[in-house]
Amino acid sequence: MTTGKIKYKMNIPFTKLYQQYLDCKSEIDSAITDTIKSSSFITGPDVTRFEKVMAQYVGAEDCASTGSGTMALLCSLRAAGIGAGDEVLTTPHTFVATTEAIVMTGADPVFVDIDPDTHLINLDLLETKITAKSRAVLFVDIYGQCPDMYRLKEICSRHNLVMIEDAAHSLGTQWCGQPIGSIADLTCFSFNPVKNLGAMGDAGCVTGSQEMMDRVRMYRDHGRTGRYDIVELGYNARIDNMQSNIVLAKLPKLAHWIDRKRAINSYYNAQLQGIVKTVKLDPRIGQGHYVYVIQTPRRDELKQYLEQHGIQTNIHYATTTHLQPAYRKWYTPCPVAELTVNEILSLPCYYSLTEEECKYICNTVRRFFQ
Ligand SMILES: *Cc1c(COP(=O)(O)O)cnc(C)c1O
Repeated sequence: MTTGKIKYKMNIPFTKLYQQYLDCKSEIDSAITDTIKSSSFITGPDVTRFEKVMAQYVGAEDCASTGSGTMALLCSLRAAGIGAGDEVLTTPHTFVATTEAIVMTGADPVFVDIDPDTHLINLDLLETKITAKSRAVLFVDIYGQCPDMYRLKEICSRHNLVMIEDAAHSLGTQWCGQPIGSIADLTCFSFNPVKNLGAMGDAGCVTGSQEMMDRVRMYRDHGRTGRYDIVELGYNARIDNMQSNIVLAKLPKLAHWIDRKRAINSYYNAQLQGIVKTVKLDPRIGQGHYVYVIQTPRRDELKQYLEQHGIQTNIHYATTTHLQPAYRKWYTPCPVAELTVNEILSLPCYYSLTEEECKYICNTVRRFFQ
């Protein structure tokens, strides 16, 4: 490819969901028609099968499906007994659902700032924020990384905190070779269409011990234990069988998609080294890769430049949750997170990007900084 003046312009969307359908078309089509034929749309054997497969996939004792990742978080916090008067340590650098779930239980989120190189919750600061009211840590595997899981587990057990993981970005990630979903007390996944493994609508799940998953199953189904026995205030947060069957139809492709994203990520790292700040990945992480993020004080200009050259980008996330009007009550300064959200930019990194497209993206970024 020539350098200097751009000779042609490509059009690269941020993601290409339709391609996923084309790559699993016959499996997805039969999942849909089979669901319609069985006419079992909510609960039943399909859901049990889904939960078995997902538990096995991440090496967990059990899995409880939910209607979304958000509901996975809320039902997990409830299952862990979190409620009014409790404090939950968390990160402000996340999608709003993480903070929302804590507040929905009646508990107070206590924000811990992030690490400037990984954008994950800063474990050194975490311990300084623990009080007599602290009951749980709800941390986020931002971009598909995870924090030092064994260190965090040790902190949680020393302070008697429930370790709850927002793994909406990290299905397929491993820590020291151990899959995410098998380490924390409760791990919450999302099958939102844009995530690593997407449904064609909303879906989510939680993994953990059978005892905890039974509690999640109770909360997701109106707090019921039997057909007519309502023992807790619950929700309608059940998975839609059409969605769980679609997710299972796509699951065999996930490892390949992640491999491809890993290769793209390495290529970007190599090409952009010394040009722009990239996220520092701990070598103990086998990353499932959700998004590829770069950081520059000239973020807004760069975003506009890339758009002018046909490259669609995104921001994960444009503001911290603790600066959102709805959550101002729980604001506490997190200077690193507050600076970071103004500088981050997510580049296209979907598995079906061609080599030529990756090259074009890197060359366009380089040209901006030249
Ligand atoms: C997507 C996402 C969620 C919410 O998942 P839904 O399935 O859309 O409800 C929660 N946390 C994070 C970090 C997410 O990215």
